[in-house]
Amino acid sequence: MLTTARGLSLRQISSGRLSQIPYATSVTRRNSNWARPPSSNARDNVARDEVARLAATPRRSLTLADLLQHGRPPLSKEALLASANFTLSLLPARLASRIQALRNLPFIIVSNPHMSKIYHNYLHSLSTLLPYQQRKITTFEEETQFGDVLADLVQTHTNTIPVLARGFLESRKYISPEDVTRFLDTHLRARIGTRLIAEQHLALHFTSQPVVDEFSEKDKKSLNSGSSNYIGVIDTALQPARIIRSCEDFVSEICELKYGVRPRLEIGGDPDATFAHIPVHVEYIITELLKNAFRATIESGNEREPIEVTIAAAPDVPGRQRPFQEDADSRFQLASQINRIDSHEAIGDANPSSQSITIRIRDRGGGIPPEVLPHIWSYSFTTFSDMDIDSSDSSNLRALDTLTGSGGHISSIAGLGYGLPLSRAYAEYFGGSIAVQSLWGWGTDVYLTLQGVGKID
Ligand code: ADP
Ligand code: MG
Repeated sequence: MLTTARGLSLRQISSGRLSQIPYATSVTRRNSNWARPPSSNARDNVARDEVARLAATPRRSLTLADLLQHGRPPLSKEALLASANFTLSLLPARLASRIQALRNLPFIIVSNPHMSKIYHNYLHSLSTLLPYQQRKITTFEEETQFGDVLADLVQTHTNTIPVLARGFLESRKYISPEDVTRFLDTHLRARIGTRLIAEQHLALHFTSQPVVDEFSEKDKKSLNSGSSNYIGVIDTALQPARIIRSCEDFVSEICELKYGVRPRLEIGGDPDATFAHIPVHVEYIITELLKNAFRATIESGNEREPIEVTIAAAPDVPGRQRPFQEDADSRFQLASQINRIDSHEAIGDANPSSQSITIRIRDRGGGIPPEVLPHIWSYSFTTFSDMDIDSSDSSNLRALDTLTGSGGHISSIAGLGYGLPLSRAYAEYFGGSIAVQSLWGWGTDVYLTLQGVGKID
């Protein structure tokens, strides 16, 4: 496995597991005042009207193709700088619009210390980006420094979800569950995009620029030969069946710890199907859905009944390509797709049918009680009791925290009721969906459809 001089595996970097990377020291050791995040005095000094102006800038929808437009790493210097400038052109307006949304919450909510922390994090991040807006990033060195700022941004916001969850939990007297859900739905969806944009450039940075400095000639050759399916955080040959197995291992282990049993999981359909998607997003969703299915199966006393997962690649789409290495034809197909990406042509346009894979997760967990069903898409709705939540409050929050970073997994079966709504936000991000069909008294079917190409907010 290729590793950088600092011992980071390429896969770790390119699969978007950036939260595991010690940013402060890893991006660069070079020093420069130009890119240093402003001192803490400057922290909150983004003028109100500057925020309002930025927030009002029109934002066009992005596509997965936008994230792929700079081509396969290692990027040329020009492409890497273009990616940095593209990233810079998007982030400030996105941060500003989140700041506006937080300001629009009732004052008593924003005054909650957790909410206020998030608000200041956004202001801080915006203030670190603004100096770059005045000028273009034109050298490797500037790009490296910009990488530091982006890394700081990603790191600063890693804990956003558990902190917001705690903030809303503490303010629940002052705000209706509908308003919380409305706010979180917009906020968390916007956050998915912002992180993705920042992480995509960071991953390209790691797989491009360090190549110049830190990899041996042999490593560089192997990267250049296209043996990696990754473009930044996107896996162009993602095989859902493999992710399902690794999430199964993880969820089974939690079940064994909590309940002392591990139900069986069977994969049917087309386990070889692959498409282009973001592994950490798929991993997040599948983990949440499996946790729900495993928990229901065990708690209903049906742990002998397997959870049946069926994978279906939509016919007549190029989503059935085998991974690169396997056969010449599919390799050619994928290679020509990547060439189109290289020539800045949107994949969405090139393949209007787009790749889509549906995964059905069927459990014999007794279904969802009718009185529960209307609430399953609300943030903070959970059938874990308040006592469960209060007693294990911080461990749940911490668990959610690791889970919702750039990868990582939740360490407990209990959630805060964010599992389904957040999974749906991830699925819908690229035009996918989640539908839940409960057969009360028997079990539940969840249909997760993921599109390889779609619009992002
Ligand atoms: P959490 O798991 O943290 O409670 P979720 O959003 O994942 O939050 O799920 C909300 C609720 O929906 C669960 O508490 C549970 O009551 C119900 N639910 C979800 N999936 C299933 C399932 N497969 N079988 C039975 N109930 C389910
Ligand atoms: Mg759950």
